[in-house]
Amino acid sequence: MESCIFCEIIKGNIPCNKVYEDDQILAFDDIHPMAPVHVLVIPKVHIQTLMDMSVEHADILLALGKSVQLIARKKSVAESGFRVVINCNEEGGQVVQHLHIHILGGVRLKDELG
Ligand code: AMP
Ligand code: ZN
Repeated sequence: MESCIFCEIIKGNIPCNKVYEDDQILAFDDIHPMAPVHVLVIPKVHIQTLMDMSVEHADILLALGKSVQLIARKKSVAESGFRVVINCNEEGGQVVQHLHIHILGGVRLKDELG
């Protein structure tokens, strides 16, 4: 596997502004925020894209969902609202090849998605 920047963050070799961590999940502020709240939520195991998830990752999918709820509350956007985005592959805009969920909020987001 080529070196993966998010795996390096998990290992502690690259710093991050940590928002949440448990045994399966790490979440940190995006380095180039596109909204006042912009958090990336990643599984600690290297899964390249959403398309590489399978039934064996069911527990990780649940952990990702639970951590999104927790982070939304922690960042005070649970009630005001937020957007969750997973970019997948080139035309989906995925630049980092380690599955990640963007949590965007803290402002009224634009309606257009594409
Ligand atoms: P995507 O385009 O969906 O692959 O998103 C990758 C995201 O990772 C972008 O929003 C980047 O700003 C963010 N990013 C890249 N490197 C880092 C880093 N070292 N720390 C935090 N966020 C990063
Ligand atoms: Zn990785």
